Amino acid sequence: VARDNGVVTSTEASEQLFDRARAVSPGGVNSPVRAFRAVGGTPIFMASGQGAWLTDVDGRRYVDLVGSWGPMLLGHAHPEVLAAVGDAVARGTSFGTPSEPEVLLAEEIVARASAESVRMVSSGTEATMSAIRLARGFTGRNKIVKFAGCYHGHVDALLAQAGSGVVTLGLPETPGVPSHVTADTIVLPYNDRAAVEAAFAEYGDQIACLITEAAAGNMGVVPPEPGFNQFLSEVCGRNGALFISDEVMTGFRVTRSGHWGLDGEREGWVPDLVTYGKVMGGGFPAAAFGGRRDVMEQLAPVGPVYQAGTLSGNPIATTAGLTTLRLADAAAYERLDSASSQLQGLVRDALDAAGLAYVLQNAGNMFSVFWGVDAPVTDFAGAQAQEAWRYKPFFHAMLDAGIYLPPSAFECWFVSAAHDEEALSRIAEALPGAARAAAQATNE
Ligand code: PLP
Repeated sequence: VARDNGVVTSTEASEQLFDRARAVSPGGVNSPVRAFRAVGGTPIFMASGQGAWLTDVDGRRYVDLVGSWGPMLLGHAHPEVLAAVGDAVARGTSFGTPSEPEVLLAEEIVARASAESVRMVSSGTEATMSAIRLARGFTGRNKIVKFAGCYHGHVDALLAQAGSGVVTLGLPETPGVPSHVTADTIVLPYNDRAAVEAAFAEYGDQIACLITEAAAGNMGVVPPEPGFNQFLSEVCGRNGALFISDEVMTGFRVTRSGHWGLDGEREGWVPDLVTYGKVMGGGFPAAAFGGRRDVMEQLAPVGPVYQAGTLSGNPIATTAGLTTLRLADAAAYERLDSASSQLQGLVRDALDAAGLAYVLQNAGNMFSVFWGVDAPVTDFAGAQAQEAWRYKPFFHAMLDAGIYLPPSAFECWFVSAAHDEEALSRIAEALPGAARAAAQATNE
């Protein structure tokens, strides 16, 4: 039972659907991060979305701070995106041939970001998986370097010490990934230059690539220390390894290009390969990997590295993504950044008033809270040291007040360009009570 402005409302329809879902699918969800395992309770089944708001199957409204885990940069059901998608659907949904929208979207991405050439896929997982295959094919080397707490999708070789749902569920490793598949994966602490130097000193001539989130957002938000990405790019360059920047979460969100707009573009370096997803699909399954032309041209049909997809560059998905990116102009990023910084201020005010120890960290407009810590979190060990249990009562108090947050303390809060004064004031009303609940929480 949830309360809406003092009125008790039911979550009966969600509960019924969840029972039916559990009978026909594992855990009743199609992605583990949607389950409420870390916070308890029944996942809320959403029926519709509009701007910053979601409406559940019981008819209750929430301010959405998940944004479909990143894609909904403009908020839900933007009328121009819906109109463009409607027109595209009327022309047919998939042709299995090249089509114009995928060219337009690729041109838009190349114009905004660091890639000279891009290949479309359908999920961020496919993008990172393919980028790694390409890096191995291009360099003729097998080893890859990743950072603990970074999540790059559920690619076998990248599930070592991963963030996101893997950390939320406290899984030490994933059965089903044979040890020989991760034997070539070197996992290092994030933001640790000495560890990177040491790994390259030992294995430099065997390392195909280093992959990193452009700013870590899957262990909570842990930004790269100033110059860290540039350093990684240089170390890779010196050792003949490719530097892969995973911008699936940050791409087209934190700036019009992504996190690269906050560091590389200013510092004058470019990643060899980059991966995108989320925002570039406008809520549909579209993702991409791209980068240096000489590397990309190792891909079939030009080169020998095979990669393919029945629905890659799908006309509906690419139309939704293209329309979203065209609407994501300077004014939209200004609204988004301003809503995010106002919200960060509201959260700080409420947590300070409740006397909580916490650190709120951001990478541009992406942010999250680390509970019960008093120093900046720079790596996975620091993120895991937080009092994540304080998040459970906080989350439920917010949910009861009609604010939909990620159901895990290790996830980023996503704001959209549609989070207006009404949405922010609704959040402001909910925060003090939730902060008090977090302050009173005990670790049972
Ligand atoms: N890379 C990063 C940085 C992500 O945050 C995610 C998803 O959260 C992925 C890759 C995987 O994307 P997808 O869930 O579309 O497979």
